[in-house]
Amino acid sequence: MFDYIVIGGGSAGCVLASRLSEDPAVQVCLIEAGGTDKSVLIHCPAAVAVLAKTGQSNWKFSTVPQPGLNGRSGYQPRGKALGGSSSVNAMIYMRGQREDYDHWASLGNTGWSYQDVLPYFKKAEHNERGADAFHATGGPLNVMDLRSPNRFSSVFVEAGRQAGYFVNTDFNGAQQDGVGMHQVTHKNGERFSAAKAYLTPKLGRSNLQVITGAHTTRILMQRKRATGVEFLQKGQLKQVNANREVLLCGGAIQSPQILMLSGIGPRAHLQAMGIATLHDLPGVGKNFHDHVDVVQVVNAPKLTDLFGLSLPGSISAVKAIFEWRNHRRGMLTTNYAEAGGFIKSQASEPTPDLQLHFVVAKLVDHGRKTVFGHGYSCHVCLLRPLSRGSVKLANKDPMAAPLIDPNFFDERDDVDRLVRGFKLMRNILWQPALASYGGSETPRSAKAETDQQIEQFIRDHADSIYHPAGSCRMGSGDMDVVDSRLRVHGLHGLRVVDASIMPRLVSGNTNAPVIMIAEKAADMIKADAQDAAQPLQSKSLATTSV
Ligand SMILES: Cc1cc2nc3c(=O)[nH]c(=O)nc-3n(C[C@H](O)[C@H](O)[C@H](O)COP(=O)(O)OP(=O)(O)OC[C@H]3O[C@@H](n4cnc5c(N)ncnc54)[C@H](O)[C@@H]3O)c2cc1C
Repeated sequence: MFDYIVIGGGSAGCVLASRLSEDPAVQVCLIEAGGTDKSVLIHCPAAVAVLAKTGQSNWKFSTVPQPGLNGRSGYQPRGKALGGSSSVNAMIYMRGQREDYDHWASLGNTGWSYQDVLPYFKKAEHNERGADAFHATGGPLNVMDLRSPNRFSSVFVEAGRQAGYFVNTDFNGAQQDGVGMHQVTHKNGERFSAAKAYLTPKLGRSNLQVITGAHTTRILMQRKRATGVEFLQKGQLKQVNANREVLLCGGAIQSPQILMLSGIGPRAHLQAMGIATLHDLPGVGKNFHDHVDVVQVVNAPKLTDLFGLSLPGSISAVKAIFEWRNHRRGMLTTNYAEAGGFIKSQASEPTPDLQLHFVVAKLVDHGRKTVFGHGYSCHVCLLRPLSRGSVKLANKDPMAAPLIDPNFFDERDDVDRLVRGFKLMRNILWQPALASYGGSETPRSAKAETDQQIEQFIRDHADSIYHPAGSCRMGSGDMDVVDSRLRVHGLHGLRVVDASIMPRLVSGNTNAPVIMIAEKAADMIKADAQDAAQPLQSKSLATTSV
């Protein structure tokens, strides 16, 4: 019997398992469908390109056909190993905007304003630049500047400056606007996933059991209380019990799926799937949204110090393997998206509504397509899309992928912003700093000149930049799934802690925000347990707010 069972060993799950097992009197079990994170492809930053191509440690989901993408199905990679998506992501350390969290709080989510969450970003962080008003040292998550950045990343930053943008040295500081180099979740030239930061160093704890290769099939419920978890491991159905709480950290796609498989969700949909409704919760799987993104690719065959498939490229790569093996430095410490920016699609925007990721390679089809030669790419994504979709069950088989529908471009405003964004991005890439190297836009986007043609290009090529969220929304309305302490409405002993609880996506990459959410959740869970354990008399005097 455990006190807490954590479902999913991803960004959030690793934090919870680690923080809750700090108390030796508390028994914690973590259940992860994927394997361990021992592969060098996870630890060597540049190998993210191999992970993208092979789909190793990845659920490799697809969306349902998207009318907004001319009927194409999108790709939804999700990490499947300890560390979850933080073991396969692009390692950019980003928090979003102050206004994102103030917006969450303005919806009635007490305790989630920027001032409230900043201490949790700092609690998580060890920033190698040192501490200041926005940053901290001493936390588990190592954050650093890239050790051996590609010279073209600073050329991009210079091009951004030439286009009139502020050169920002800290996107997570006083202001987000501008162009600059990213900080990354690396340590000593290696990926620093949530597993490496929080879980792996604590695996020796006798009160922490980590079960890998274990696919959760449902949450066990007794009336309105979660009492345990059923999972499938090596063809065998097994159960573990929790006497305090089950903590669902399956991510924005699988947390709603697991709830619905457990009979918690919209009654009509569960009925249609042949699942008995234990708790009718209409918001499960709704409010699903994602950062929609489009990439412009530039051919620059002579620039062989950019990543690319060629003879000189292969010679550099072989040298780089030795450099990384011996010194953890050199080309293989790249996260490819080394630089980027936050810009406004029009001057009247109060804060940036677009994000740029500059990539020191030619990126086609999420890196799944082999492209020869050298070049660079730039993404532009929409930070606060209005379109909302859903996650639904395809059937009642727990091993089946759910129906994922981000409903991209359902709202006209999303298309218009991205068209403006594409033009602003192109303007940066045409500034002298980059243009003087003589690259040429690949024909598929170069043809798009008018707004109508750009829209067509976007609908033909846009897709996720991997930040799905919102499908178990936090709030107090009828369509909300968890309250501001992340407890599932109407149930006991069950919380959801991951990207699915975001009422609205943050304006940036989502790993650090999810880690912050889990740090805050760990404190809330501990405080609530302490409160529950207090004798009734002293309870009335106690405060439990975190
Ligand atoms: C390719 C890619 C690139 C990205 N790049 C960046 C970036 O550079 N910077 C950034 O900040 N963010 C990035 N992100 C996003 C970020 O990594 C995620 O938002 C974040 O990791 C999500 O955390 P989570 O805890 O919500 O879910 P996850 O980390 O995905 O964790 C969910 C876990 O639950 C497990 N699980 C699911 N279903 C079951 C089940 N039935 N039984 C047992 N276990 C289950 C999964 O295997 C997984 O380990 C990227 C994501 C991807 C996929």
